[in-house]
Amino acid sequence: MTQKIALYPGSFDPVHYGHIDIAQRAAAIFDHVIVAVYESPKKPLLFSPQERVAMLTVAMAHLPNVTVRSYRGLTVKFARSQGAHVLVRGLRVISDFEMEYQMALTNQQLGPDIDTICLMTRYEYAFLSASLVKEVFAAGGDVSQMTPPVVVEALLKKLGPRNANGVEVPSIML
Ligand code: ADP
Repeated sequence: MTQKIALYPGSFDPVHYGHIDIAQRAAAIFDHVIVAVYESPKKPLLFSPQERVAMLTVAMAHLPNVTVRSYRGLTVKFARSQGAHVLVRGLRVISDFEMEYQMALTNQQLGPDIDTICLMTRYEYAFLSASLVKEVFAAGGDVSQMTPPVVVEALLKKLGPRNANGVEVPSIML
């Protein structure tokens, strides 16, 4: 029987518990899930592709049927190269829908053999985003409820310890 492989693409700058929850739930549906780190999205990034892959690899270590890879170019092309015929995305608030819908229909045009499924976020992660993690950390807040220890360590290394009064968040981080 052929394996059902799904690709979960995103920037993951950095990974947080909302992403991990989606990957975990996808891993329970599909035989194999490839978390695909888009190397250079059209938005400013804090972490390099290698750093994002390294954090995700640690964060997904408890999921035996999940692997992490980075890619460039068209998502559908990368999915096909990996034997995946399904793209997994997460939906948080209603404002995500329009974007996800547009992306799913575009990918449908580019790769009719590849379908997109969206999993609804878990209640507690509905307002969690990578930008929020960076913003809260840079302002001196505790992000340990939002993201795993490997990311907290990486944020500390990259941005240094934040004081209680917080610091200005350069817009490049968001
Ligand atoms: P993008 O791919 O748009 O750069 P991200 O890398 O932040 O966005 O997220 C990758 C995928 O994970 C997207 O489908 C996004 O909607 C989803 N996602 C992000 N945060 C959450 C969350 N808190 N709950 C569920 N899904 C989420």
